[in-house]
Amino acid sequence: MPANSKTEGEISQHILEHIPKEAEVTRIEFEGPALAVYTKKPEILIEQSYIIADIVNLIRKRIVVRSDPSVRLDEKDAERIIPEIVSPEAEITGINFDPSLGEVIIETKKPGLVIGKNGAVLQEIVRKTRWRPRILRSPPISSKIVAHMRHYLHSESKERERILRTVGERIFRPAVHGAGDIRLTALGGFREVGRSAILVQTRESNVLLDCGINPGSTNPLEAFPRLDAAQFDLDLLDAVVISHAHLDHCGFLPFLFKYGYDGPVYCSAPTSNLMTLLQLDYLDVLSKQGLMPLYGQKDVRETVLHTIPLRYGAVTDIAPDIRLTLHNSGHILGSSLIHLHIGEGLHNVVYTGDYKYAPTMLLEPAVSMFPRVETIITESTYGSPNDLMPSRIGAEERLASVINETLDRGGKVLIPVPAVGRAQEIMLIIDGYMRRGLLKEAPVFIEGMISEATAIHTAYPEYLARGVRNSILHGGINPFQSDYFTIVEHPSAREEIVEGEQSIIIATSGMLEGGPLAQDKRNTIIFVSYQIEGTMGRRIQKGLTETPMINSEGKIEVVKVNLQVESIEGFSGHSDRRQIINYIRRVKPKPERIIVVHGEKAKCMSVANIFQRKYRVEAIVPENLETVKLR
Ligand SMILES: [Zn+2]
Repeated sequence: MPANSKTEGEISQHILEHIPKEAEVTRIEFEGPALAVYTKKPEILIEQSYIIADIVNLIRKRIVVRSDPSVRLDEKDAERIIPEIVSPEAEITGINFDPSLGEVIIETKKPGLVIGKNGAVLQEIVRKTRWRPRILRSPPISSKIVAHMRHYLHSESKERERILRTVGERIFRPAVHGAGDIRLTALGGFREVGRSAILVQTRESNVLLDCGINPGSTNPLEAFPRLDAAQFDLDLLDAVVISHAHLDHCGFLPFLFKYGYDGPVYCSAPTSNLMTLLQLDYLDVLSKQGLMPLYGQKDVRETVLHTIPLRYGAVTDIAPDIRLTLHNSGHILGSSLIHLHIGEGLHNVVYTGDYKYAPTMLLEPAVSMFPRVETIITESTYGSPNDLMPSRIGAEERLASVINETLDRGGKVLIPVPAVGRAQEIMLIIDGYMRRGLLKEAPVFIEGMISEATAIHTAYPEYLARGVRNSILHGGINPFQSDYFTIVEHPSAREEIVEGEQSIIIATSGMLEGGPLAQDKRNTIIFVSYQIEGTMGRRIQKGLTETPMINSEGKIEVVKVNLQVESIEGFSGHSDRRQIINYIRRVKPKPERIIVVHGEKAKCMSVANIFQRKYRVEAIVPENLETVKLR
């Protein structure tokens, strides 16, 4: 009998029978996808961890041990006592509490010392405070957004508890219908790049994969996912899974909350932080342009409250017949391949989101081994035969020579980048090349928004590629804090930079506005990432010669675009055509069906074609609003 057909009462009974009486269990409750066992003596279950491990093996559900709120030490007292238990050499930099989980979040420079030998120090903290420690390495650069989110979750801990309980009750509801009839409906991002949204349905449940916007369009029928599709019913939605923080994958998510969604959002922890940053920035940019966003900051906060971060590799029940696992996709920090295991061995789907099947400075390549996979949904941003990217080293050298030439003629280099991903990759390259004397030394200005995203990167070294991670953790060198970099916090500083001496400016696309940079033909704009059809970047890339821009007085004027335009492809966080083909061929086990998405129509077709013809695998390219029966 599948574990899910057990009732809540039966599961609780089972757990109670296997836990020693002296642990004094007070209640067992759902906590999102896990069962929380509340006890007056949490130390017993933490020290004898095999007790819980045995139960997990039997019932195949995640169990977390929580202290009963009545035995927890007052937060102020716990905050005073913890530094007395831990050696001062651990250099604790922050102690915060999460009452909804009964956790104390300890930030320290030396996590090993807070854990202690065989967890001895940690257990001592549990015994003395009855708060369960979550130990984090103090990030070298502190992030405002991480601090705000933590503070918000603390202040709303009662509401968070309610959400987690409701989510758990829904996940573990008894399955009514038998498994089968697995369908996929294309809501956005099919035969196009932007507004990614895929609905996966079984007879029992409904899961939405990504919920993005198309930044290249203002027409609602093209800018947002087609939530008006007959198959989509917000009230029946069990879960939303977000592959990564780029707005074309998560920019429309808060809208669901505005319209009453009360369910969970699953993603990696870095994705949760980065997407909050990008959604808030999106609202800010729209309001500066005098446009009315479709949701507000309140809805972004609701999203935070409903987000359940998952580690790569953790198998999680998200509906009575669906288990979710996230794996590294190599695209940006925290980006995930989404693996769905449907109906106890019935069908397995992998949705790649955006992925890179090659190592970069920042990240390891996408994971290609799965326990099972029958259907794979792949992106195809660079899927045409012309999209072969130059070698990494070739791209780096080209970047260095374009920068050197521009600086030599007294010009400025503008590198527009999405704040997350390419920005950090380019920062690492520029720092490395300057350090080795291969790049002329010049001030490098980094826009404030990018700096905040960079801070989030340093909070998650375990998600970064081995080289950077080791350099941050063990080498004591943080390449993101290079002396060459100057952070531009205030918009007022922009004007000085634009009028000042030669420099390198790494900024989100807004920096070009105002005109002077665009008019000076000594300057160069270097595109290092994909420019979505309809955006200003794409128009400049295609050779636009003049454009209306908002000048420093806030008036619209027509500006001549005289600066040099360069596009260097090799830095992309996407796989090029060769990497897409290699990846799909190396995915283990071999998928039976390929669905090609997230590419201009011709590119989707071209990728599908090669698999159909050369590798004899069923490959399809659905249109938006189309439904495909997977099984
Ligand atoms: Zn992306």
